[in-house]
Amino acid sequence: MSSLETYKRKRRFNVTPEPKPKKKHSEEGRLFVVQKHQARNLHYDLRLETEGVLKSWAVPKGPSLDPTLKRLAMAVEDHPLDYFDFEGVIPEGEYGGGTVMVWDYGTYTPENESDVIRALNQGELKFALRGRKLKGSWVLVRTRDRQWLLIKHRDQYASADSITDSAYKSALSGRTMVEIAAQNGGDETKAASADAKPGQDLQLKPRDKRTRKGRGTGPKV
Ligand code: MN
Repeated sequence: MSSLETYKRKRRFNVTPEPKPKKKHSEEGRLFVVQKHQARNLHYDLRLETEGVLKSWAVPKGPSLDPTLKRLAMAVEDHPLDYFDFEGVIPEGEYGGGTVMVWDYGTYTPENESDVIRALNQGELKFALRGRKLKGSWVLVRTRDRQWLLIKHRDQYASADSITDSAYKSALSGRTMVEIAAQNGGDETKAASADAKPGQDLQLKPRDKRTRKGRGTGPKV
């Protein structure tokens, strides 16, 4: 559990709904999750299960299916496996305060090296994703220190479509960021900016107005 000390140190578990580390590993052993996280800045957290933790990267622009686009991915502290299905609101003022969505999840398979930790130590991990949204072959390449690039390989799942725009709802609950914020006492205005696509203001849609009235009455996830 020693690699989770940073995770534990940064959080007050009597304040944040985020999980305390408990589980040692999943049945599959190779889960992945991408969490959309509207903290100070919107980003997508890619997490890969290995050796009983979720190795994690913050990807400011989110994953792209376009093999010509290299997405910056900053390595962040290991997260506990319990974080895999965390969707909700981290209170403002806490570390990472803001709305969190399970944007995609599934399993992955390492491709260049079966020992994932060794591949990461060597600065390059090729892997195949079997998610609800993300599929096919990808690579994480370290450029320096904690800075990595996340790149889609050319295969049948490569595409010029912006999947973060076209598939913007939760893979776990089908909810938007506004709906997750509304149902968990979060900042709906801030969350709305995370749902908006370029040139679109989702706050004007009737569906979101209805959501606002339902504050605090929805199911907790
Ligand atoms: Mn984050």
